[in-house]
Amino acid sequence: MKITDIKATPVTIPMEAPLRWSMGIETGTTRTIVEVHTDEGIVGIGETYGGDSTASVVTNQCKAIMKGLDPMEMGKIIARFGPYFEIPYETSIPPHAFAGVEMACWDALGKKLDRPVASLLGGMQRSEIDFISYLFYRYEGKKGIPPIDSPKSMLKYHQRLDDEGGKFLGAKIKGGVFPPEDELETVKLFRETYGNRFLLRFDPNAAWSVETSIRMLKQMEQYNLEFVEDPTQYIEGMARVRKEVSIPFSTNMCVIWFNQIVPAVRLGAIDMIQEDLHFWGGLALNRKLVGVAETMQLGLAIHSDRELGISTAAVLHFVSAHTYLTHPIDSHYHHQLDDIITEPFQYKNGRMKVPKGPGLGVEIDRKKLEKYHKAYREQGDVNEFYDARRPNWVPTMPQF
Ligand SMILES: [Mg+2]
Repeated sequence: MKITDIKATPVTIPMEAPLRWSMGIETGTTRTIVEVHTDEGIVGIGETYGGDSTASVVTNQCKAIMKGLDPMEMGKIIARFGPYFEIPYETSIPPHAFAGVEMACWDALGKKLDRPVASLLGGMQRSEIDFISYLFYRYEGKKGIPPIDSPKSMLKYHQRLDDEGGKFLGAKIKGGVFPPEDELETVKLFRETYGNRFLLRFDPNAAWSVETSIRMLKQMEQYNLEFVEDPTQYIEGMARVRKEVSIPFSTNMCVIWFNQIVPAVRLGAIDMIQEDLHFWGGLALNRKLVGVAETMQLGLAIHSDRELGISTAAVLHFVSAHTYLTHPIDSHYHHQLDDIITEPFQYKNGRMKVPKGPGLGVEIDRKKLEKYHKAYREQGDVNEFYDARRPNWVPTMPQF
């Protein structure tokens, strides 16, 4: 099997309501849908972060390197891209652009062999995957959707999700928006409402200074958190806070590539990594990350940055084949109003089913792809580092 062509289509899909985080708001998701064509007529599909800039890398640089290569020879393909990932200030191919193409190669391979991607990764060891409910403070949405701006309103939203999607094992509270003392009240309310076995994670995206982090997390210790993600910025800041508090730390900000793992562990900055199939350069490199993490006894959870159905399928296959990943998955899926696959995913008992394949086991809905590509052309990239309602506000790290 040989790659003959690669296509990339950016799409934008709106959120139910604008989600707030420390650097701005997420009004929707912009993703690039990738299709890898082969000489055998098999077309693999993939998805990754970003719009035109990603699509341009995919259809220019990635295609130039990959045309004529065999998707089965993944090692050979990765070896061709490896150098691009190691010099970040010069690279014209970011790991996430490659990841979208690589995902499509796994899908093509699965389709050729008539096996699910999980089988190609070592075997489907779990057929259903646990999620936490990923919760954000948010502005009001259209059609009378109320804002989430207090501990009670966030609890109410979680209860709605629980009613619809059924009993999540836990929740992740996205913080860094309101004064830290107010967000502590939200954590407290969830712990008091759901008891000690409910998994509770908190992520202020480095909105807190080292001293605010120490002060607040000392108070948070009593609420038995599963982990806190990036309370403060950089490996050094994380290490100084972690020395003072007993809560495990995870990151998707201070350790984002392999070479940063050992220094962070030596400094005692992290207990876990939020791995991401896109930002860590695809499924094969994420397998490597699982190996590194297991060897160093670092925990792993899955990071979410507004994936649609193709990426969600890839996450499900990946987690099902790697039992070292024991923390439930983060996903924005329930905040997004639509998808571009023919059978969108649904939570049942706080879980999603791993598609049976072949390949990723999901198909593109052509009408929806067209509709949301048109939306992308009209609206451009969703800019999350900005809040139109606060024109004079400048997002800074730290903010509190
Ligand atoms: Mg995070």
